[in-house]
Amino acid sequence: MSSKTYDAIIIGAGIVGSACAAECARAGLSVAIVEAGIVGGGATAAGMGHLVVMDDSEAQFALTRYSQQLWDEVSDELPREVEHDACGTIWIAADDDEMVEARRKEKFYSDRGVKTEMLDAQSLAEAEPNLRPGLLGGLRVPGDSVIYPPCAAQYLVDQSTAKGAELFLGIAVDRIETGGVRLRDGSTISAGLVVNSAGSSSPALTRGLEVKKRKGHLVITDRYPNFIRHQLVELGYLKSAHTLTAESVAFNIQPRKTGQLLIGSSRQFGVDDSHVDNSIVTQMLGRAVEYLPGLGKLSSLRTWTGFRAATPDKLPLIGPHTEHERLYLATGHEGLGITTSLATAKLLVGQILDRETPIPVTPYLPARMAQEPVHV
Ligand SMILES: Cc1cc2nc3c(=O)[nH]c(=O)nc-3n(C[C@H](O)[C@H](O)[C@H](O)COP(=O)(O)OP(=O)(O)OC[C@H]3O[C@@H](n4cnc5c(N)ncnc54)[C@H](O)[C@@H]3O)c2cc1C
Repeated sequence: MSSKTYDAIIIGAGIVGSACAAECARAGLSVAIVEAGIVGGGATAAGMGHLVVMDDSEAQFALTRYSQQLWDEVSDELPREVEHDACGTIWIAADDDEMVEARRKEKFYSDRGVKTEMLDAQSLAEAEPNLRPGLLGGLRVPGDSVIYPPCAAQYLVDQSTAKGAELFLGIAVDRIETGGVRLRDGSTISAGLVVNSAGSSSPALTRGLEVKKRKGHLVITDRYPNFIRHQLVELGYLKSAHTLTAESVAFNIQPRKTGQLLIGSSRQFGVDDSHVDNSIVTQMLGRAVEYLPGLGKLSSLRTWTGFRAATPDKLPLIGPHTEHERLYLATGHEGLGITTSLATAKLLVGQILDRETPIPVTPYLPARMAQEPVHV
């Protein structure tokens, strides 16, 4: 395939692999990116592209916050097609418990320097007039934003190739070997190190990885500019996204720059086929119409599914494999891989080059899995 020996082979040109390739190339490493399909065609194409600070744990907060700052730093140079939109998030409280949760979240974020604004019922209705009456309020996080992930992955690949990285497209890695990878056609590519960033397919290349597929559905509508102005998420979403039950849906809707509405979301473990499950879509849309009654009159254009790569502790695996020298992992980003891709790349390259990183790497090291229980 190539007689050259690279410093690094990056497996997968999803948003995570693309970010890692760009960071490796920027650090002066010679890079080969091997992608079985197209750039950003996996979970990256299926995701919502919400760049969101989250607070499920201190480690999750640190990674999402740091990565969001990195996205903000490049926002001016992102090409138009990445559709960066600083729309902010509103976390919606439908009952007293969710209002308590909104206040807890508000304190957590403001204690750590994230700008927030508590909304009462009236200010919520003013901010989003199409929400149903009777909601109690919410929390606005103005620093959250939205991008179109496949084009963001392409932008990162372009950054990599501009620094000399080589892209091998439509070529699948069959297995990772000492000193490189063997491709499905039997040929090999040699490198000093290999990064497995194959998303939900990463366990197929590295046996024993605690990464499971978590299926999600999304629906996109026709163009209805200004129907909503923020990414709107029910606070009940936290219950569904961050527990590890078999199946859940929650209200989560995004305004696209095109005027379209991207409606999510669902989570399912133990389902490996990618077909659209109409019963899940019905539940998801039913939930969305409870919050935005006018949605029922709008037309949807397309529904699709994708697979998040989930770890048991809801944190990604970033760093060296515990047993295979020169194999690094950058996988397991579940529902936050678009957000956390840039920080992942910084932490990965920091470890490869033995450089200090802006946030500690320890919570994301694959070595922690040696002590972790298996998936619930
Ligand atoms: C419904 C849904 C909504 C989401 N919403 C958000 C959101 O709003 N915000 C957010 O931050 N995240 C979100 N996510 C999560 C996000 O999409 C993922 O975490 C992220 O895309 C993972 O990127 P990745 O590069 O690790 O994986 P992928 O994008 O899946 O990329 C892996 C790549 O590896 C390639 N590959 C696999 N096997 C091989 C092989 N053997 N050889 C060569 N190449 C191979 C694949 O073709 C693929 O292109 C969402 C996910 C879903 C499913």
